[in-house]
Order: sequence, then C-alpha cells, then structure tokens
Amino acid sequence: MEPVLKVENLKKYFPVRSLLRTIAWVKAVDGVSFEIYPGETFGLVGESGCGKTTTGRTILRLIKPTSGRMIFGGRDVTKLKGKDLMWFRRHAQIMFQDPYSSLDPRQTVFNTIMEPVKFHGITVDNPEDFVIRLLESVGLNEMHLYRYPHEFSGGQRQRIALAKILALKPDFVVLDEPTSALDVSVQANILNTLKGLQKKYGFSYLFISHDLGVVKYMSHRMGVMYLGKLVEVGPSKKIFENPLHPYTQMLLSAIPVPDPELARTKKRMEVKGEPPSPINPPKGCRFHPRCPLAKAGLCDGKEPSLIEVEKNHYVACWLYENP
Ligand code: SF4
Repeated sequence: MEPVLKVENLKKYFPVRSLLRTIAWVKAVDGVSFEIYPGETFGLVGESGCGKTTTGRTILRLIKPTSGRMIFGGRDVTKLKGKDLMWFRRHAQIMFQDPYSSLDPRQTVFNTIMEPVKFHGITVDNPEDFVIRLLESVGLNEMHLYRYPHEFSGGQRQRIALAKILALKPDFVVLDEPTSALDVSVQANILNTLKGLQKKYGFSYLFISHDLGVVKYMSHRMGVMYLGKLVEVGPSKKIFENPLHPYTQMLLSAIPVPDPELARTKKRMEVKGEPPSPINPPKGCRFHPRCPLAKAGLCDGKEPSLIEVEKNHYVACWLYENP
C-alpha cells in the first residue's frame, strides 16, 4: 500500500541571533523519517521540546523546512508553490491544541466553517444544510449555527474546529495535542469522535501528544522523539508491551498507576537530569548523558541509526547493534 505521507530526513533548524548575526542553530528537528498510510494514525510522543510539534508544523509547510522531503499524493510538498500549495493546504489540515485561540471570536459558527470552503472555491448547493450536516457529524446541531465561539465550552470549540476541517474533506490531519487543554471528562468524547470520523472517512492522522495513554488509545503505530530525532518506531501495541529504547522505557515507567499497591511494586527506570540543549546536542547517542545503560566509549562516540530489531519495530540504540 502506498503511504499518504512519506517524510524523508526532515530537518528544521532555527537560527539563534545576536547583534544581527547567527551565532548558533537550534536543531529542533534533525533528520526525521516516517510514513503514514491511508486510514492510519501515527502517534508522535516525547518530552516538551523534543521537536514533535515542529515536525507536525513543518510537514504542513506552516514553517519552512531546512532540508528533507515530504511526499504527499506523489508530490514533494517542500517544492509546492501557488495553486499546487493551495491544493496541499486543502488536503492536509491541522487541529490545534488551544480551542480558545484557534477560532475567530468575531465569526459565527456558520461563517467559521464556510470561510475555508469559499477560500478554496468549493461550491455547495445549500450552505446552511451543508454546515448543519457537518455540525451533526461532530456532535453539535443546528441550534449552534449562528452562535459565537465565546458561547461554547472548550470541548465544543474543538468540535467546531473539527467541523471546519471536515468541510474540506482532507486526506490527512495533524492533531497537535488536540485534547490536552480539555477536562479529562471531555477528552474521551473528542478522541472517540476523531476515531469515528477516521473510520467513516478514512482519514490519516499524525497524532502529537506528550500523553502516552492517549497515544496508546489513538495510534496504530508510533514514533518516540528525543532531541529532534526518532529513537523508536513501531506498532503502538508492540512498543507498549515491549519498549526497546531506554528512553521509551523511561517514558513508560513514568506513567502513573492508579492502583497504590501496583504503584508501590512497579519497577521504575531512573533517569538522570533534564534533556540537553538542542543547540549543542551531545556527541554520539543524544540520550547518553541520561541513559542508565550507556556504555562509555560506545554510546558517546558515533550516533546510532534506526534499525529493524523486530518486524516493523525500529530502534536507534547501540545495545541492539552490539548485543
Ligand atoms: Fe543508552 Fe547507549 Fe542505547 Fe543511547 S545507545 S540509549 S546511551 S544504551
């Protein structure tokens, strides 16, 4: 099966300037490659600042990549301009984290949803019916048609944002922490709506989150990012059952356990310190200053690349290349 999106060696560096000169580069995304297939959700996880949100935004050309390629619908997105870029913007959408700032407070729900439809020159016979159908498919109704964003809760605003995305019938949607600003009780409803829409329309999602429980629930496959690089990629079930990279093991062991007895007996993997600066990442394996399994002379030398350790399960760690 052909992937909907193929990301190849994507890099995004931001300049650090002083006195109008570039004195260093923040390597936010530093050589990331993965594919997303039709109807699939690919989860991207990692600590704050690991580059997962920058990856999502760079893929959508909201920020310009430094290098690398993104192949979507057979075309290299990095080179698209004018009408071709408009075509891409219609077919690849994003749902932002903050439902309070992602909607224009001066526009009614009807105008909010119709605005991109008009912008992309899509003709609809009866705009009111069209918007009502979209609202119903995300759990709202015609009573909400001429209301303003301030009249809605956070969860309802995310539903409006979703209806706006649906109006363009995209193939691919970046979900950038779509529920992290919402109450826990509302999160499950939104996630189930997203799953239902994927089943109905066959969307492919890039699901970005720091919440591993949510990623496990949503994603078919996932990638774990550390300091701008993917360190483990594979089916979510496999990674949760048998995490291979020490960093993934650390993230999973930090998930809170609701049962106090289980929490007391649960083996935790201790990891030292904070992530280093992406301006000057450590030589060798980027995780080596914090890794409890690091081997001197090996892990601080050459950088490991992703290798297939089990079927479709890739990891970048010297432990698996030099057993
Ligand atoms: Fe740890 Fe070495 Fe593996 Fe890096 S390569 S994760 S430092 S064991």
